Amino acid sequence: MLTASFYTLGCRLNQTESALIAQSLKAKGYEITEAKTGADLCVINSCTVTGPSDLKCRQLIRQVQKQNPGAKVAVIGCYSQMASEEILAIGGVDLVLGTEDKLKLAQYLDLVEPGGEPVVRVGAIGKGAFSLDAPVQHRGLTRANLKIQDGCDFLCSFCIIPQARGRSRSRLFEDTLAEARSLGAAGVKELVLTGVNLGCYEEGGKGFLDLLAALETVPGVERIRISSIEPTTLGTQVFGPMADRGAKLVPHLHLPLQSGSDRVLKAMRRRYDQAEYLAFLEQAVREVPDLGVGTDVIVGFPGETDREFQDTYDLLARSAVQYFHVFPFALRPGTKAESMEGFLSPQVITERALALRELGDQKQEAFARSYLGREVRVLFEHNGGGNRWSGYADNYLRVQLHSEQALGNQLVQVKITGNQDSLALGELMAPEG
Ligand code: SF4
Repeated sequence: MLTASFYTLGCRLNQTESALIAQSLKAKGYEITEAKTGADLCVINSCTVTGPSDLKCRQLIRQVQKQNPGAKVAVIGCYSQMASEEILAIGGVDLVLGTEDKLKLAQYLDLVEPGGEPVVRVGAIGKGAFSLDAPVQHRGLTRANLKIQDGCDFLCSFCIIPQARGRSRSRLFEDTLAEARSLGAAGVKELVLTGVNLGCYEEGGKGFLDLLAALETVPGVERIRISSIEPTTLGTQVFGPMADRGAKLVPHLHLPLQSGSDRVLKAMRRRYDQAEYLAFLEQAVREVPDLGVGTDVIVGFPGETDREFQDTYDLLARSAVQYFHVFPFALRPGTKAESMEGFLSPQVITERALALRELGDQKQEAFARSYLGREVRVLFEHNGGGNRWSGYADNYLRVQLHSEQALGNQLVQVKITGNQDSLALGELMAPEG
């Protein structure tokens, strides 16, 4: 049997797409391997979000070629879309597919001839609604990403996504539901909705909230999670189902803030100011009990002053946000930010990132501590060895406990008895099924 290995860089959407491609390769007779050597096919699903991401991808291509001599090498995705010539210049790459064609990798493989010219398909990206060929062989999987949307129309000044992934488009409503039903029937208990700009979902007159309502009815699925959503795109009506513990939508929001300074937000071309962000968040916290909140922040954007960084720090310190993904600013050539002035030294950017990460660690730990003595519902995912089971509560609190009982893919009530940094430790209560 032929083997294929995957190297997925970048975002959750890339992970989702790698999983879909892996399914289509399995249908073609490939076995997917975790091994870093000896594969017959190596698929690099690339990212181009910053200059350093491109460099990382080129390094990975060389490393994969070295470790898998004789393997076919396919480089697909955002970096392929933006700079296929840089990939071809490395040599030894057999297949380069851009955004529009990456999911058809299994078909394009048939065109690759041993020792022949590389097959390159990088072209215009579609603008309309799309469907996905999503064969489901997810048995044993607890959580599955469900792709509902792609691309973005927002044109933030630091971001290349609108060029790399095209403009916003949505997956056909019925096609999305069909995959959700297959996943539910295959035993997947949690769906994580993925896309670039989820709140822009619109297909056949149905919006994001309509899709959420329809997904509530999917048999087998017990939890629905929104992966990350732009602050201005989600209506406050979502707080109703999020607060309803009879509903499948979990009380968890990941709302990218990027900066707590209005001047920087404007320079980033974000569509909200800090007061609007906070107002939305505060309403969410008032209306949704036990809400878990995460965010993304960019530090060291061109021209960011000490005061402006402090504004970000202070906003995050006093807000209900419990965990942050901190991104030190790295220029992506081809974005609006390229023509800006006031680039900061790497040292200043590193110091600011460090300060925010420390604050994030403290807040995440305080969040875990605040659950001491309380009961939460956890979907357990894996046994980390020694019968230490870990999983996530509805609000994304990470929980671990020791149990002789197999807990994989079970929703279980847990009493929190302590914490180890941001990890909540607990003991088992009555299983729900
Ligand atoms: S909202 Fe802004 S940061 Fe997010 S993908 Fe669109 S352009 Fe990029």
